[in-house]
Amino acid sequence: MACDDLDKLRAESPQASPRDWPVDALNHLASCSRCAQLEDLLDSEPQPDFPEALRLKIENSILPGLSPVTPLSSVATLTIMLLLASMFVVIAAEWPLGLAGWRARNSYQIALNLSILLISSSMLANLLARLISPGSSSPVLPYSVVPLLALIGSNSLLFGYQSNETLTRQTLACWEIGVSCASVSVPLFWLILRRGFSINLVGQGAITGLLAGLTGVMVLEIHCPILEKSHIVAGHLGAALTSTVAGASLGYLYATQRLFLRKR
Ligand SMILES: [Zn+2]
Ligand SMILES: [Zn+2]
Repeated sequence: MACDDLDKLRAESPQASPRDWPVDALNHLASCSRCAQLEDLLDSEPQPDFPEALRLKIENSILPGLSPVTPLSSVATLTIMLLLASMFVVIAAEWPLGLAGWRARNSYQIALNLSILLISSSMLANLLARLISPGSSSPVLPYSVVPLLALIGSNSLLFGYQSNETLTRQTLACWEIGVSCASVSVPLFWLILRRGFSINLVGQGAITGLLAGLTGVMVLEIHCPILEKSHIVAGHLGAALTSTVAGASLGYLYATQRLFLRKR
């Protein structure tokens, strides 16, 4: 065995002492002054080179300011809390708005659209919970596009096209309701998400906006009795798209501000 082999042995198992080494290595250590000298140095206790008074001073200046924090809730808990917040907004909005849309739709239309909305919302809430939990990373774009495409597809399939003069006004009115419900949902979502930390703020903004937007779509599905393709896509889904874009823009603004503050 040569000096290099002994060095390699030390590097491979730094915790092992010469007692654990093979006979070859011990023979080399006994015969080689260079390796014996190195071993003596490594074995000797490092002398603490830090005055006790200084250590206490540092500890006293840091420790009193530290207080324990409650850990971030689990992804499952956060997901359920986001869905409950969304349901709360739907129920609170339906109270004054009424259930005309629910009555106007047949059971097939209700089942298909509500299934897509519930599955999409659960998926987005889960994605959002994972995005703000440290150590997780997820591709955001496919998740944000799929729910809107699925809803455009199902509404095109379920409803016919029939234009009239009042439709634009009604579409605008529904868009306003959708955006308002989304705006009310965002502060509730923020309360749930505020203790997490996301490195993808644009993605987090977009997904938060879309989840809030789908809350608005859910409200409109139950409230709005106008079963017309272009009205639903522009007024109802348009509100969700607006809120998604607004969320992504806010995320972008916040991210550039965070970067700016860090650079200063
Ligand atoms: Zn040696
Ligand atoms: Zn409508």
